[in-house]
Amino acid sequence: MLTRVARLYGQKHIKVEMQETSQPGDGQVLLKMAAGGICGSDLHYYQDGGFGPVRVREPIVLGHEASGYVEALGTGVSGLAVGDLVAINPSQPCGSCRFCAEGLPIHCLDMQFMGSAMRLPHAQGMFRDWLVVPAIQCVASGKAVSAAEAACAEPLAVCLHAVSRAGNLEGKRVLVTGAGPIGALAVAAARQAGAGEIVVTDLMDAALERAKAMGATRTINVSTEADQLSAFEEGKGWFDVAFECSAAASAIRSAVAAVRPRGLIVQVGVTGDVLVPLNALVGKELNWIGSQRFDGEFARAAELIGRREIDVRPIISHTFPIDEAVAAFEQAGDRSAACKVQLTFLS
Ligand code: ZN
Repeated sequence: MLTRVARLYGQKHIKVEMQETSQPGDGQVLLKMAAGGICGSDLHYYQDGGFGPVRVREPIVLGHEASGYVEALGTGVSGLAVGDLVAINPSQPCGSCRFCAEGLPIHCLDMQFMGSAMRLPHAQGMFRDWLVVPAIQCVASGKAVSAAEAACAEPLAVCLHAVSRAGNLEGKRVLVTGAGPIGALAVAAARQAGAGEIVVTDLMDAALERAKAMGATRTINVSTEADQLSAFEEGKGWFDVAFECSAAASAIRSAVAAVRPRGLIVQVGVTGDVLVPLNALVGKELNWIGSQRFDGEFARAAELIGRREIDVRPIISHTFPIDEAVAAFEQAGDRSAACKVQLTFLS
């Protein structure tokens, strides 16, 4: 059987091509793909040929946020039925390395993360019409939601994990810097976890509107009303927790300034080296921790979306058929209008 794939050959060079695909084997399912979101990392691969030390070194099918319909079951698969809409977990930890054995598959030494150029050969991704994957990577999302919503389980899982790194948020004052898809979903995850106040900063009004729709109690455009954020810096800072989702040095500086002594900054946005105000980090005894990817949070994300306990529709800004993958990536690069840009496939 043949499938279309959207394959990246290097900077600004994506081709939609046909390739052979197999039938599902033992423990696998064949999925008729439905929707796939373009992530910030996909965009970096497309715009810059990589990010930081991670470079595209061979052709790679991108896509790690996707949903599809079960078309056929391999032998030994239970818990899924033909026709189910599923969110696909892109993580494939080895299950046997030191960190998998410790119960930390997120730090697997042999992780195959679909659509990632971190290792060579690259782990191929999900921007394609047909996909065969292990059934254990599929989480049924129920009948109440669209395939586009189900495809947001992956980025929501990233944010649920970031929230779990923060500990109890009940009644807490939360700052979210950066209102792209991850920032907007971090708002929803923080709200779901009981945060009392959620202030969001960004440079774009359109992004801030989406953050509001996802549950922000207040938004501040730091390009036009920076003084409103400065007010939160008085008396050594206002917020208990900040989710830093932009990786911009200026946003990290404001988070350090606006979080109270012994407060917490969860670093979700990622970049290469960046300047940090160590004097304030030390002087206020701040906790600054990293958060990447997810583990059990994936199933939880699919469940929250499936019941619309978290309604992700406000973040989905554009949809393009796979044949227009180039246009989709160009649109995703325009932050003044785009939030989550998705490709659609056969379904
Ligand atoms: Zn492992």
